[in-house]
Amino acid sequence: METAAPTAVTVAIDGPSGTGKSSTSKAVAAKLGLRYLDTGAQYRAITWWMITNGIDTDDPQAVALAAGKPVIVSGTDPFAPTITVDGLDASGPIRTREVTAKVSAVSAVPEVRVLITELQRSIAAEAADGGEGILVEGRDIGITVLPDADLKVFLTASPEARAARRSGELRGKEAADLAATKEALIKRDAADSGRKTSPLAKAADAVEVDTTDLSLDQVIECVVTLVEEKRAGRK
Ligand code: C5P
Repeated sequence: METAAPTAVTVAIDGPSGTGKSSTSKAVAAKLGLRYLDTGAQYRAITWWMITNGIDTDDPQAVALAAGKPVIVSGTDPFAPTITVDGLDASGPIRTREVTAKVSAVSAVPEVRVLITELQRSIAAEAADGGEGILVEGRDIGITVLPDADLKVFLTASPEARAARRSGELRGKEAADLAATKEALIKRDAADSGRKTSPLAKAADAVEVDTTDLSLDQVIECVVTLVEEKRAGRK
C-alpha cells in the first residue's frame, strides 16, 4: 500500500446531536479539502430501509437478520454529501421524525454496527490512499471506527443549547416545540450513550470543545486550527 500524503489527515469528530457537529464538520472539510462522511446518515439510511421494508425496528433479531440487505452508498463531497439506499436518494426521508425516533434502536444492534463500521473504514481508507484525507463525524469514530485517527475532536454543549439548535433546524420542516425537542434529544442521547456496543463516548486522546457559548463560525475556526496544527506537525 502507498504511504498516504502528509496532508491526508484522518479526523474523527464525535459528540451528541445539537452540538453543531454536522455543520462544523462539513465546513471544516470543505475549507481544508478533506472528504466528509456523515455516519449518522448511514445509520438513518439503514433505519429508513427497515421501516419501508416492514421490519420491526424494536426487534433486534429481525433487524440483525435484515441488516445485510440494503446497499448504502455515501457520497463524500463536503459541498454536496449524498446518501443512497439501493440506488434511491435517501437524503430527505432519513431526516423524518419517524426515522429519528427509531434510529437509536437500529444502531444499537451489533450486526448493524459491524456492517456499517466496515463500510466507514473502507471509505476512510480510500480517502487516505487517495491523498485527500477525510473528516468522519459520528458517535463512536474516535474509539471504535478509527481509533488511529490523526485528530479526534469531541464536541459538547449544554442540553438547553443543543435542544435550541435542533429546534431551529427543524423549524419549517416539522413544527417542533423546544420542550419536546429537548426531551427527544435527551432520550436519544441516553440510548446512544447507554447501549452495549460502541456507545457514544469521548476517546481518551480526543480534544473536547464545549460549543455552548460559541458561534458556529467560532467552532469551525477552532477545529480548522486543530487540523492545521496536526498537518503542520506531520510535515
Ligand atoms: O448524527 P445523527 O443525529 O444523524 O445520528 C443519528 C443516530 O445514528 C444517532 O442518534 C445514533 O443512534 C446513530 N449513530 C451511531 N453511531 C454513529 C453515528 C450515528 O450509532 N457513529
